[in-house]
Amino acid sequence: MPSRVRARIRRCVMECTPIIAENRRLAIDPDSAVGPDVPVLRIPKPPQRLTDAERALRRRLKNQRKNARRAGAGGRVKPADIEFLMRAQKGRCFYCTRKLGKKWHIDHFHPLSLGGSNERKNLRLACEPCNLAKSDKPAAEFLGVMLI
Ligand SMILES: [Zn+2]
Repeated sequence: MPSRVRARIRRCVMECTPIIAENRRLAIDPDSAVGPDVPVLRIPKPPQRLTDAERALRRRLKNQRKNARRAGAGGRVKPADIEFLMRAQKGRCFYCTRKLGKKWHIDHFHPLSLGGSNERKNLRLACEPCNLAKSDKPAAEFLGVMLI
């Protein structure tokens, strides 16, 4: 048996045993008064395995929140915002319209450093070269540079 599976079983046994024991105690003890005011104990579900893409998105949003916290921006980027932007931008970079591959960035149209927010209306998806080139320039300035 792979050690990963063994570790998972061990973790589950450790987490579930006290709960199962408590459930059994409540079930066999006539004085335990299992009724509506006794909380129902449930065996926790094993943690869900995330796909690589889900894990990558979580990591991305976590980093993004950290940066936003540092910049003191309001709001919070939600996975639904990213899905919305992917659809709205048809999976292309907002600035150069090239297809976004695996490496794309969440760009703040109006930069956080200049008081931009994390709201959906201030977010764009950009390819890595565009986002790094734009850096903390306002979009208008960056697009001006691009057109030269
Ligand atoms: Zn681009």
